[in-house]
Amino acid sequence: MKKAFVFDFDDTLATTECRVIVRSSITGYQLDRLTPAEFNSYELTKLEYFDFSEFRSEEFIHNAVPTTLINLAKEVYDEDHSVYVLTARADNVAEAISDWLFGFDVRPVHVYGVGSDDKKCDIAAEKKKVLTTLAQAFDLVYFYDDHEENCDLAREIGNGIKVYLV
Ligand SMILES: [Mg+2]
Repeated sequence: MKKAFVFDFDDTLATTECRVIVRSSITGYQLDRLTPAEFNSYELTKLEYFDFSEFRSEEFIHNAVPTTLINLAKEVYDEDHSVYVLTARADNVAEAISDWLFGFDVRPVHVYGVGSDDKKCDIAAEKKKVLTTLAQAFDLVYFYDDHEENCDLAREIGNGIKVYLV
């Protein structure tokens, strides 16, 4: 049976000190600093924008602290299953996340970064698209994410995916 194990990054595989900064479009001043969880549900006003510079910083990724799920990732990787990362971060940090996983002897097939540096996307919908494609390519997809909406949408894919809210 061909299985894929798909992990979200922030607060699923790892915790970091990264915050999304909310800035004023007028002054550029920092108005707020959001955790990944807070960011998921934050609605920008017209006079604000997101500053993702900390999430682009490789230093923050290299210093990420693994959660216990790293053990599962390692175990399934050692069993020759395909491991993927599916993150709300932008694609330009994919390499840094891969490198971080190499440090735990896990080589992901691919790191999908479905987010954007300068606009807020519908992350749950973007994640569902990737998972739908993977569900077609594998007999069974296991998906782990700490965000409820991501999990709810993933469950809509139906047969072929097992979703775990962590
Ligand atoms: Mg997360």
